[in-house]
Amino acid sequence: MSSDETPDREGKWTIRPHKGAAAGLASIIHSVRHTAAEPGLLNGTRLLLQVNQVDGFDCPGCAWPDPKHRSITEFCENGAKAIAEEATRDRVTPEFFQQHSIDSLLKWTDLELGKAGRITEPVVRRNGDSHYERITWNDAFALCGEHLKSLSSPDLATFYTSGRASNEAAFLYQLLARTLGTNNLPDCSNMCHESSGTGLGEVIGIGKGTVTLEDFDHADMIFVIGQNPGTNHPRMLSALQSAARRGAKIIAVNPLREAALERFKHPQEAFRLLGKGTRIATDFLQVRVGGDVALLQGIAKAVFAAEASAPGTVLDHEFIQQQTAGFEAYKNAVQTQDWPAIVAQSGITQTRLEAIGAQYAAAKSVIICWAMGLTQHKHGVANVQECINLLLLRGNIGRQGAGACPVRGHSNVQGDRTMGIWDRPSEAFLARLDKATGITSPRHHGYNVVEAIQAMEEGKVDVFMALGGNLVSAAPDCERVGAALEQCALTIHVSTKLNKSHLHPGKSSLILPCLGRTEVDIQASGSQFVTVENSMGVVHQSNGKSTPASQELRSEPDIVAHIAAASLGKVTPIDWEFMIQNYDHIRDVIERSIAGFDNYNKRVREKGGFVLPNGARDRTFSTKTGRAQFSVHGLPNLAVDDDELILMTVRSHDQYNTTIYGLDDRYRGVYGQRRVIFIHPEDASERGLAPGQRVRITSCFDGKTRMVESFHIVPFDIPKGTAAAYFPEANPLVALESHADRSYTPTSKFIPIRVYAQDPSDTPLT
Ligand code: SF4
Repeated sequence: MSSDETPDREGKWTIRPHKGAAAGLASIIHSVRHTAAEPGLLNGTRLLLQVNQVDGFDCPGCAWPDPKHRSITEFCENGAKAIAEEATRDRVTPEFFQQHSIDSLLKWTDLELGKAGRITEPVVRRNGDSHYERITWNDAFALCGEHLKSLSSPDLATFYTSGRASNEAAFLYQLLARTLGTNNLPDCSNMCHESSGTGLGEVIGIGKGTVTLEDFDHADMIFVIGQNPGTNHPRMLSALQSAARRGAKIIAVNPLREAALERFKHPQEAFRLLGKGTRIATDFLQVRVGGDVALLQGIAKAVFAAEASAPGTVLDHEFIQQQTAGFEAYKNAVQTQDWPAIVAQSGITQTRLEAIGAQYAAAKSVIICWAMGLTQHKHGVANVQECINLLLLRGNIGRQGAGACPVRGHSNVQGDRTMGIWDRPSEAFLARLDKATGITSPRHHGYNVVEAIQAMEEGKVDVFMALGGNLVSAAPDCERVGAALEQCALTIHVSTKLNKSHLHPGKSSLILPCLGRTEVDIQASGSQFVTVENSMGVVHQSNGKSTPASQELRSEPDIVAHIAAASLGKVTPIDWEFMIQNYDHIRDVIERSIAGFDNYNKRVREKGGFVLPNGARDRTFSTKTGRAQFSVHGLPNLAVDDDELILMTVRSHDQYNTTIYGLDDRYRGVYGQRRVIFIHPEDASERGLAPGQRVRITSCFDGKTRMVESFHIVPFDIPKGTAAAYFPEANPLVALESHADRSYTPTSKFIPIRVYAQDPSDTPLT
């Protein structure tokens, strides 16, 4: 059994289909349960009363924005879980590492590793040792400096970022890399919304969404495509519930009938907890996996037909003529696309698509929201651009209640990109950075995640550093990623908790434990706050409130600055020590380096922070044509062999990215098991597979077969020919080279697979 397989040692597990509305009393119970189990009710409740408050700390969960008027309990169940995980009382001490060899820890599951607790002191694994051992901070920084200074080329170093790093840490981190001389800055968004950034950048001139949270109060139609807000952005349901109550049309587009898109009960509406909840989706389109281009073109085709039958009454001609380019080519492409192909690919009937098209044509203001269900496809960029095409037809961009809304995952993933965490920075960004800091940034592009892993495999990376994150579990082809990391001379992980990536150490490896978002950060000038940017471009403060899990912990900016000082010494115009004495110093340099941060330190101290400029939101499109760009995309090739199913990887409800909170997924009715495959009952019976039966799953890419074992059949309401399973368990089935065109986002939502009974004598679940 290879190291990254979650052993099938869970106890008794069950399937109990979810009934009724999502959230409600159950989410309160689960929040209390996790809080009691980890930080304890007293400390946990104190923290929960400070999360997402104006002078509190930003939730380390997702990037959904905070409303102007916050409730005293401004968090959701998964926010409570994220905080509980960070504020746990369990500790991973140097003694723990002495007791547990790296090889023995490799047999632990992601859940077990995470539940071991917060790492309390820096540890090192030297030259092939079997265990990590204690190291002092100074020796750790010296070891980093020694390796980074001895590189024959700065491109032999790679600096990976997880989207939880604050603006201040991310800015210093990219400055370290660029001062050293490399743009090797892969980050977690390469694996999630890179298709959004690439797609939007080309057609509206900015790689970010255009709506504000307030726009949800004015939209009369909201699409939620390839997204499961009930688990991944739960407070979004408050905005959708208000819209639904206002009579807005909410169109859910998802192969899986996600419970929270059906009905939602707001946990903070005590008087309604016993009710049946609010119906969210007015229409639920269970699209075939990969069928989004066809679906969006089908709706557009219906809109063009409506325009043709009442010329001048449907399309926003003034906006199209004055502010867009490429309209005629797009119109011709859609009008020549035939309905049978659209219906076959989307899996949705012409009648339903025409009905949605009619609703769209009648709606005044429309928002389209999306997540990984659109981006993690070979045609991920086309999926995103088809959303923009549809919005442009009726000028649904850059006005109240309308626009594009890619909902980001990690709490500051958008902020990190704004800070320069990008392997393909623009000349304008680098020129302004160089002028502000006195460095000379490299101009050649660096490695994204896929390229960084390939480079490590080829021995082209001596030093791999990760600012947060868990690349081995997050990336496709996990085993290759683990082996690639082991090629490095030094791996450096800045982390709060133990994870799989630590257990694939370079020849030498450091784990540098950092403060969490909930914890107080004291520097020379006193207590510091950091800043983050949410999905809608609002930059605001986050003030740690609790006593750090260990007095040995250091903040991310502190760790990055000390590694920089140890590696760059005097050959840099940057006074790293000065930067971290007071994070205002970092923000002063950010203000000079990055557009939109004028008076940064003053404005971020104002209530709720400030909104970054967003040209497309003001109908200023910084595209090649200076206009919003219609784009033309053919229907993608979705063909698979007859005996293949199309697998998509998903999160369970007890999971946030690679952090596993528990073994249940109550909205999908699975309890006590993560190695499951959701499959259409007919697809199961055609393969002679019964509910609960243990199966082997294979995928084949470029002639290479990949396999995972000990998954279990869960019959589910999912389009025939489609299947779903959780990541990271299913990530070994995704080939590293199977990624989206242009954005390199892994195709984790479209993996052709075969499913076989693993052990004929296996007793199916009764
Ligand atoms: S919606 Fe996201 S940011 Fe808000 S509390 Fe929940 S997990 Fe945290």
